[in-house]
Amino acid sequence: MFLANRVLKKETYDSTNIGWTWEIRPDGTYVRGYSFNAWMGCTKHGPECLFCYADTIMDQKGRDLFGKHTRRHFVSDGAWKKLRTWNRRAEKLGYHAKVFCSSFSDVFEELCESHPDIEAMEKARARLFAEMEACTHLTFIICTKRPMNALRMVPPKWSDGFPENVWVLATTGTQRTADRLIPRLLEIPATVIGLSVEPMLEPLKLPQEFLDRGGRSWVICGGESGKQAGIRAAHSDWYRDLRDQCVDADVPFFFKQVGDWIHEPLIVNPTKVQQTRLSKAKADPARVKAWEDDSRSYRLHKKSNGRLLDGREWNQFPGVCF
Ligand code: SF4
Repeated sequence: MFLANRVLKKETYDSTNIGWTWEIRPDGTYVRGYSFNAWMGCTKHGPECLFCYADTIMDQKGRDLFGKHTRRHFVSDGAWKKLRTWNRRAEKLGYHAKVFCSSFSDVFEELCESHPDIEAMEKARARLFAEMEACTHLTFIICTKRPMNALRMVPPKWSDGFPENVWVLATTGTQRTADRLIPRLLEIPATVIGLSVEPMLEPLKLPQEFLDRGGRSWVICGGESGKQAGIRAAHSDWYRDLRDQCVDADVPFFFKQVGDWIHEPLIVNPTKVQQTRLSKAKADPARVKAWEDDSRSYRLHKKSNGRLLDGREWNQFPGVCF
């Protein structure tokens, strides 16, 4: 049975749909994880940020939070209290719940010197790190585009070792970003470090030092989605090659989504919805991308494209017990 069908329904309160935060229970069911933002808003930081979903959602709500000089929105005490609630619930159920941190901001963003929110951000960051230390039944997965700032922003005692329940992932959709960020990520003394290769924008070769960590590294991968006309397609060989590098090195691999574009080798036993969307896409040149090897990708929709890679889900998690 696939991941989405095995969720333990009663544990869905306040939870997130993002599959890589879910927890596999001994009985084979999955419990959803959570997402938490100490503040909302950010500055775009590379090609992976081009169609930032958080920016799009905030734009739709009429909130201007994304930009070098725009104000950030700091969440209420009520939102902070949820962390303790989730922690108590996980403790009662006897597991560690994963918390995606942060989905609408970057924990390691550095504001420019004249920004009015510098002090508030520093306070929020310190409070977040204190909560991470206190909530030992939550595993905080910091997903950042700025791992180079991590060591000078975390509490000084963390430079000898991050708490075991704090993992750090860097977003690396291109080789250039990977080459720039992975060496900095490797400097972070966290039990688990990893890559969020989403959106995957080109083939990636991972450095041996990262692969040699095996189950203490993690790779999450997926294609781009969004409403914008320029959403970018990925070739299925890019996914396969990345997966194979991970499988060969025993690095857990999680394939999150195909994305809005689907490469034709991934279309296997299409559903009726997918068939209808495919016929429409084939008739619209803006929704067809031809690759150099003469294969095609079609722009359908992330929901109908699903998350199968070569006929199966890839739901691997770091094998860390604490
Ligand atoms: S770092 Fe993340 S939250 Fe910030 S702009 Fe880029 S995609 Fe958006």
